[in-house]
Amino acid sequence: MANKQIVVVGSSNTDMIIKLDRIPRPGETILGGEFVMAAGGKGANQAVAAARAGGAVTFVAKVGEDVFGAQAVEGFKKDKIDVQYVFRDRRAASGVALIFVAKDGENSIAVASGSNGRLMPADLIRAKAAISSAATLVMQLETPLETVRAAAQIAAKKGVRVILNPAPARKLDEALLKLITILTPNETEAELLTGIPVKDEAGASKAAAALLAKGVQTVVITLGARGAFVASSEIYQMVAGFKVKPVDTTAAGDVFNGALAVALTQGTTLLEAVRFANAAGALSTTRFGAQPSAPKRSEILKMLR
Ligand code: ADP
Repeated sequence: MANKQIVVVGSSNTDMIIKLDRIPRPGETILGGEFVMAAGGKGANQAVAAARAGGAVTFVAKVGEDVFGAQAVEGFKKDKIDVQYVFRDRRAASGVALIFVAKDGENSIAVASGSNGRLMPADLIRAKAAISSAATLVMQLETPLETVRAAAQIAAKKGVRVILNPAPARKLDEALLKLITILTPNETEAELLTGIPVKDEAGASKAAAALLAKGVQTVVITLGARGAFVASSEIYQMVAGFKVKPVDTTAAGDVFNGALAVALTQGTTLLEAVRFANAAGALSTTRFGAQPSAPKRSEILKMLR
């Protein structure tokens, strides 16, 4: 059976991380940090996570004509991602995130979105056939909202499943929410979208109801180590997370979304798909970095057994 296509539309960044005793104050220089560079960006993280989880993935994105963009594309190819719609922008640099991580786990992050901010609806014209014929479209909010909307419209018209991970947190209008098959906010994002505090299962349950009322078909609120709360017209329940020893929770949400897309595209039921995604998300917290932490399918299946 042919592996049905997953199209991810979104951001690609290079994360440059310095691990330090503490975050430098304005005007201050601290020596003695350790430098790590890793591929990141929510869109790219989700594309890589989906590919490693067993999906056939096409990534639609925009990187600069610079060394970071070239490196990102090389990484996607290694994961067998179709990169024909990863556009190169001559006018803007590739997205970069400069990250300080202190000993106590505190961090401080500055993101230069660069070319990610220039992925426009017009760019989708070339990828239209791929989106229209996909089984699942996966998006986040690190690229312009008009592009997210345009892609969702193309997909919705053809009955393509649309997964929107509404991160980073921002308010969304109901016209967009109505195009979404599965919305996957974390606690912070669910709270911002609904105005309902989401600290636990009870809060998640209320926020999920509010999002269903706005026209989203299915809501999956990720709750860190606890797992995820799933809500649709037929299902309304928690799916428990897996117990692990986390070392870095960066990109847990991205890995969860990539894996969720794969399981649903392969025809798994919603609850089983969320369990698969919980396993993938948990595994990712046991490793450092964004894309380096995305587990392989065999590892996810082992965790599920
Ligand atoms: P985000 O990274 O977007 O804030 P979450 O923290 O909710 O998202 O994590 C996403 C998913 O990753 C969770 O639903 C869960 O499946 C898994 N996960 C995250 N943190 C842990 C953890 N400490 N232990 C086990 N699983 C985790």
